[in-house]
Amino acid sequence: MPRRAEPPREAVPAREQVNACRRCPLWHDATQGVPGAGPASAKVMLVGEQPGNEEDLQGEPFVGPAGRLLGEALARAGLERDDVYVTNAVKHFKFQMRGKRRLHKTPGQLEVEACSIWLEQEIHAIEPAVIVALGATAASAVLGKKRVALSTLMDAPVEKEGRMVVATYHPSFVLRQRSEESRRAAFERIVASLRQAARLAAGPRRR
Ligand code: SF4
Repeated sequence: MPRRAEPPREAVPAREQVNACRRCPLWHDATQGVPGAGPASAKVMLVGEQPGNEEDLQGEPFVGPAGRLLGEALARAGLERDDVYVTNAVKHFKFQMRGKRRLHKTPGQLEVEACSIWLEQEIHAIEPAVIVALGATAASAVLGKKRVALSTLMDAPVEKEGRMVVATYHPSFVLRQRSEESRRAAFERIVASLRQAARLAAGPRRR
């Protein structure tokens, strides 16, 4: 008996679509929009907050210092960077000028909500088994809640629409720690969360 054809999956947002987006004012000062990247077959999706300075210039997610740290954490957790889909809750870089430097500024709730259309499209296109939210902004965007307690979520992954959501620190949180000990502890927390995500992704699908 012929197999019933699967309905076609939604495609991830194209770079041109994100670049042309005017749903919030962040496009105005940014160099370009930064869509997610990774294989359509990825079982694990990592969601950060927004592109940083390097990402804004290169047009790719997680290619700056935080991205390099994330790569190390993925390797420690036994995950290949090329096997996961990486993206951000907000696709344009929000910053404030300090002299000649562009300093990261946390996106507001309205910007996160405006940009959720792209994140939702990515989730529907990739259909990951597990989403890892890197930081509170990402967790709030993924769960569709205005406020989330990252510390509570980190200890207890939650299920949303048939997929597991694991929350952990954003790699930039590690970079902001003042002592070597704090940096190591925050980094190990991310590694532990990524290991948990890998275990969950290897288990049976919930949908
Ligand atoms: S940040 Fe998101 S919602 Fe705002 S303009 Fe860019 S793509 Fe559109």
